[in-house]
Amino acid sequence: MRIGCPKEIKNHEYRVGLTPESAAELVAHGHSVTMETGAGDGIGASDDAYIAAGATIASVDEVFETADIIVKVKEPQEVERKRMRADQTLYTYLHLAPDAPQTNDLIASGATCIAYETVTSARGGLPLLKPMSQVAGRMSVQAGAAALEKAKGGRGVLLGGVPGVAPGKIVIIGGGVVGRNAAQMAVGLGADVTILDRSNDVLESIDQQFGGAVKTVYSSQSLLEAAIKDADVVVGAVLIPGAAAPKLVTREMLKTMQPGAVLVDVAIDQGGCFETSRATTHADPIYIEEGIVHYCVANMPGAVARTSTYALNNATLPHLLQLADLGVAEALRRDPHLLNGLNVAKGVVTCEPVAVAQNLPY
Ligand code: NAD
Repeated sequence: MRIGCPKEIKNHEYRVGLTPESAAELVAHGHSVTMETGAGDGIGASDDAYIAAGATIASVDEVFETADIIVKVKEPQEVERKRMRADQTLYTYLHLAPDAPQTNDLIASGATCIAYETVTSARGGLPLLKPMSQVAGRMSVQAGAAALEKAKGGRGVLLGGVPGVAPGKIVIIGGGVVGRNAAQMAVGLGADVTILDRSNDVLESIDQQFGGAVKTVYSSQSLLEAAIKDADVVVGAVLIPGAAAPKLVTREMLKTMQPGAVLVDVAIDQGGCFETSRATTHADPIYIEEGIVHYCVANMPGAVARTSTYALNNATLPHLLQLADLGVAEALRRDPHLLNGLNVAKGVVTCEPVAVAQNLPY
């Protein structure tokens, strides 16, 4: 099969669909790989590194013209969508439900479109979304620690403390992938860590994973209010699948917190779980409301493009090899979890939530 990987063109997107190592793996399986010139620049992977892996470097026109499967990271932008053809497969994040223009263009293209975010696994969960939640969870503690510094408007607290001075307190709301990864970093720093969740199973498994290093608390409104009062950092990591994040911390509640405490709203991509959150960018990540420092970057993994690209490729490459080795139709026929990733094919939406969200036939 001919695999094509264009350079990402969405604003401030530095990740790339294929690492040189993934390209080499595809070549070793007998496929050809064509990378757009400079596609790996954002992760420090040169064209020469891809050539050494056995790939060919070409213009964007050539990548789209020659590929059977196009591999990307972000949803195709309008100019990319116009290039897609009925005989091609697109393998990338799509997030179609709220995006009618993209859905309509992909329907019109006739292409087979597989969305990373709806591929499932036999163990449950969304394995191609998970790596980005791992990255965001780990980053949230770094972001919170930096924002606690005085110059950023923070309380001037070192999360790990020092001998003779107590560590900072970090409260994590939501004990899923983001929350656990945040906890792992916070424990590593020596912080005083509490996780709240609504699921007793989640709390039990966190207790087993971290033992006494993490306190677990059931996420009722009154226990949440009590937990944030003396927190130095609060990480918002809740998810209600398919719904906007619930506003768990109101503006009024900020008045009960310590001035200079930090809120890191990782759930901002679902609208945020703090009433005072608004999406920020890596260029200008924090702002202060009610004396509380807010960090609300919607695409946290983008800042660590190299780590994020490698983590993403670890999850996406096995399925890409299935698609290329077996042929797209046969790979989808054999693997129901990969089939769950199919969002649009032959001019029809094939993913029920997308069809329902946009009132389209399914
Ligand atoms: P997850 O499903 O693994 O975990 C979510 C957890 O929230 C679950 O354990 C659930 O029980 C818990 N929860 C739900 N309602 C709650 C409540 N009221 N109180 C406490 N806990 C509650 O999800 P995840 O992968 O950890 O993702 C968490 C959030 O982070 C999502 O909104 C996701 O979109 C977002 N995210 C953002 C970025 C970014 O760059 N900003 C990157 C990755 C993920």
